[in-house]
Parts: sequence; C-alpha cells; structure tokens
Amino acid sequence: MATFDPPGLQHLAPVWVNELRRQGVDSDRTLALWRDDHLEPPPPDRIAMLQRWARGETRIVDLTRDEGITHSRVQAMLKDAALRLIAPHLEDLPRWEQARSTGVSPEVIAHLSNTVPEVVYLALDGWPARRNWTTSGDDVAEAHRRWRAGASLLDVAEALGVSEYALTQTLRSGESALTPRRLETADLRSRFGWTPSAVSLYRRRRVLPAPDGHEKKSAWWWESTLDSWAAERDLLWCQQCRRAFMSRRGLTGHRTQVHESTLEESPTGTLSR
Ligand SMILES: [Zn+2]
Repeated sequence: MATFDPPGLQHLAPVWVNELRRQGVDSDRTLALWRDDHLEPPPPDRIAMLQRWARGETRIVDLTRDEGITHSRVQAMLKDAALRLIAPHLEDLPRWEQARSTGVSPEVIAHLSNTVPEVVYLALDGWPARRNWTTSGDDVAEAHRRWRAGASLLDVAEALGVSEYALTQTLRSGESALTPRRLETADLRSRFGWTPSAVSLYRRRRVLPAPDGHEKKSAWWWESTLDSWAAERDLLWCQQCRRAFMSRRGLTGHRTQVHESTLEESPTGTLSR
C-alpha cells in the first residue's frame, strides 16, 4: 500500500480515503493542494440537504426528483458537500474518535468544533451504513467472503466502505448480521455460564478448542466449532445456575462451595445427574 499516511487520515472513513486517492492525493503536497481546493464551504442549502440525507430523512431518488437533476449528479453533490465540510477538520479526527469512544455525543463534538453532527459521523464512519449495505451487492458479497475467511472486522468494514465502528454498531444493533456467527469469550460466558476466570482457565488448560481467529487481542470461535466441541464433551451442568463443568469433580466441588445449603435441602436428584 501507499506510504503516504498522515495521522488525520488514519481516522478518516475508508470511503473518503479512497476518494482522496481517486482525486490524486498521494502526498503531503497533493493533500495541501486538495485542501486549498476545498476551503470554500458548501452553500447552506447543500449543507441542509446533506444533513437531511445523512439522517435518513430523504433519499437520493427524492432529491433527484426535487432538484430535477440526475442520480449521479445528486451523489456527486452530496460527496462534494461532505468533503468540503470534512476538509477543515482532518486534524480534529483523532480527537473526535477519542471523544466518541469515551461516550461524548456527535452533537457535543460537532458543537465544540463548530460544525454539524452529521459531519462527525460522515468523517469517521463514511456514508450511512444501511445505504451502502443495500446499494452494492458486490461489496456485501465481498464482505461476507472476507468474514467467512476469518478476516478482521476492519477488513470486512473496508469491503463495505464503512468504518469498523459503524460495522460494530450495526452488528450490535442487529441492523445487519454476518453469518456464521463468531462467538467471543463473553458469548462463551453466557452460553456455558462461566466466569471470566473459568474461561481463561479452560483456555490455558486447552480444554477449549483453539480459537478460530482473533479480533484485536480477543479470541473468537465459529459457533459450529463450539457446537461440535460441546457435543463431543459430556458437559455436566449445574441445574441451579446453568453452568457447565468438564468433570464430575468440578461439578461436585462447585455444588459444595456455592450451593451447600441447597444441597442439604435436596441431597439427591440434581447431584446424580
Ligand atoms: Zn451452580
């Protein structure tokens, strides 16, 4: 890949980085020239149009009809307006990302930077995810191919032209789903009732199968890997807290420690399972 990689651009959504490359930005000098070309902000009605569109209040087809211009012209106008609004803030992007990761709302971030909230998420996340995901079947197919090949979320997000953050959000909200599922240690905890220390103990002792991949530093398994593993092992379940144990001894120890009083009340049944 290109060696040109100024700090601000690392936080800029891939769709804009690609657009800059397409417009010939490949060095500090060409970036400075590009910014000079984009000093002038878009007219207020264009900003309002971009905001309405970014908030999902209007569609490109509606704008095409309202403005009496072609679909591609509307797209070009939106893109140009977005880039002109983002251009003055390239240096702000690391702080925006940082602020947002600590829960500061785009409204507050935008206010402090003297811009509108839509610019914050357009810059960091690219075009609103739902549009990209539904408009380009090729991108979605490529994203799924990467996902199934075990690629990182960042790689999958790049295929979709959205930020890793946007992808994570849409996956979490259930707005979109990538299949088959990848289970992380938190999923293992809820699935098997394990504490975090139990998960790491089972991993250290290689009781659990090796992870199918890693996202940043955290391990993940395909759901099928854990399904077949659980089917092969004869897991013993504590009926009271729905927690799985590998051995009779483990279950007995747990019952004695955690459910001692209950054990005296109902000595048989649950234990003999
Ligand atoms: Zn229990």
